[in-house]
Parts: sequence; structure tokens; C-alpha cells
Amino acid sequence: PESEGSIDIGLVVAAHGRHCLVESPDGQRRICHPRGKKSQAVVGDRVRWMPTGDEGSIEQIEPRNNLFYRQDELRTKSFAANLDQVLVLLAAEPEFSEHQLARALVAAEAEGIAPLIVLNKADLGTLFERAWDRLAPYRAMGLTVLPLRLKGEDDASSGLDALVQRLEGKTTLVLGPSGVGKSTLVNRLVPQAQAQTGEISRALNSGKHTTTSTTWYWVDTARTTALIDSPGFQEFGLNHIEATRLASLMPDLRAALGACRFYNCTHLHEPGCGVRAKVQGEGCGDDGIAATRYRIYEDLFAELSAKRSY
Ligand code: GDP
Ligand code: ZN
Repeated sequence: PESEGSIDIGLVVAAHGRHCLVESPDGQRRICHPRGKKSQAVVGDRVRWMPTGDEGSIEQIEPRNNLFYRQDELRTKSFAANLDQVLVLLAAEPEFSEHQLARALVAAEAEGIAPLIVLNKADLGTLFERAWDRLAPYRAMGLTVLPLRLKGEDDASSGLDALVQRLEGKTTLVLGPSGVGKSTLVNRLVPQAQAQTGEISRALNSGKHTTTSTTWYWVDTARTTALIDSPGFQEFGLNHIEATRLASLMPDLRAALGACRFYNCTHLHEPGCGVRAKVQGEGCGDDGIAATRYRIYEDLFAELSAKRSY
């Protein structure tokens, strides 16, 4: 298959700038570069590539099922594609930002991906209970929230088995703020992760070590279950989403949309809006929209309406 001129299909397992590490079906990996000014492949992309000496040239990116973005102050950039699931890892401590959680969930919803919330550090007693309670609105809107304890014995009470079952056969993007136990989890599920990360950064950055790139890991030797580890939770990119779509991407607000009889309603200021009437503490019972969630909707709506248009 190495003959010059033949086109092979491969999987992008890491990317740095315009360089990608592409894995062939036989497990061989090589550095590839996009031909000419073609668009950038991201981790999870299936690509058609051609050998050019020891390296390769990416001829074409196969159509994507979905695409995830991150943003910094200047621009929005895609970083992962073709996911089956997004795992948002939180912990009893440090205290998580519900705003960051909501951003990740909206991004997943926008791409039609089922999110999975995991709350780690179940050994931390009251702190854990408090965090678990803060996630009540997310359970109420039908999302799966799994408890996890990565510290101590890995027995039936750790929750790891239940989590592993949810990962099997899927490609899961793992996200989380720092300190929640993300590296502990990845290293537990992929014992050779650290060695692989070293190899990948050496291959892509000619010796320099960077830990801040998105990386694909196979969990099983049969290569059916994969994790994509990605740093940077806070800068989840939502700029590509229209503000008017936002309510439909938040399951609790979406469930209330039928109660709003206005066309083109933002559910923010309109008097008589049925969605606003369902916000808890504003004349509605416990089965309505949590006040914290509505505040997040207001904030995200403002952000998406004000987004730069380039
Ligand atoms: P990361 O920043 O998300 O990659 O987090 P790490 O994997 O480095 O873990 C952060 C800290 O949390 C470390 O000190 C871990 O030992 C600790 N940690 C991980 N899992 C648990 C857990 O289940 N319970 C407790 N108490 N600490 C944990
Ligand atoms: Zn409305």
C-alpha cells in the first residue's frame, strides 16, 4: 500500500498547526500535511492521503458527521470531528462553573451529540453532595449524570464500570476544567496514554513537548472504543450558533417552547412569554426552568447576538 501515488484512507489522531498524525487501518502512523491551501483536518477526521517519502499529503477530508470548535479572543477554530459522545468531567472540587458546563452542552446539542456528565471525587462527602445537587436541573432535563470516584480502590462502588459501559464502541470527547481528574481518568483507561502523548508531541513538534493539543486514544486493542482528550473547557466555541437557535439547544428551555405563543420570541423581554413564565421563582413551581439555567440562557443569548461577524 506504500507505493507512490496510491491513495489511502486514514484517521487523524493528532494535529498541530497544519501537521497531522494520520493512522492507517493497520495502526501505522505518519505525519501528513494538507496539499496546498486545503482546509485543516482535525482529530477524528477520516482523510484520503498519499505517501510523499516518509510523510504524506492529505488529498481530501471525508465528509464529517459533526465538528467541534474552540475559540480564543481572535478566532474560532475547529478541533475535533466525528464524535459519538461528549463526556463532561466535573468534580466535587474544584467547584464547577455551571456556565462552562452549559456551553459544552450547547455545543454538543448543536452538533446532535449526546452529552454525558460525570461527577468525580465521590469520596468527598458533603462537597460531593452539594455538587450533585447543583446538577439536579441537568438530571431533570433528561441528561445522564454518573457519579465517579477515581481515588482509592477500583471496586464496584467506584462507578468506573458503569462509565466504561457508556464508552464502549464509541468515540468520546473528554472535556473538563483542570483539577477534576481528567488525566487520572485518561491514564486509568489508556495505560499507555502518557507514553503516546510524548511520542505524538515529538513527532509533530520536532522534539518540543506540548501538552496542549487534542489527542485520540484507543481504549481497546481491537480499536473500537476511543477517547479524545482535549484541554481547554472554558473557551468552547459557540460563535457558529445563531442566538435564535439557542433555546432549542437547551433541553429545559426547549421543553417550554410550546408554552410560548409568539413567533420570533427571544423569551427575554416579551411580556406574556410562556417560556419566561416557566422560570422558577417567577410564579412557577419546581417543575419549571431553574433560575440559574435561565440566567445562563440570557448570558449566552447576549454573547451569541453580539458575536463578531467574520
Ligand atoms: P486534571 O487536571 O483534570 O487532569 O486532574 P488530575 O487527574 O491531575 O487530578 C487532579 C487531582 O485530583 C489530583 O490530585 C488527583 O489525585 C485528584 N483526584 C482524582 N480523582 C479523585 C477522586 O476521585 N477523589 C479525590 N479526592 N481526588 C481525586
Ligand atoms: Zn417567548
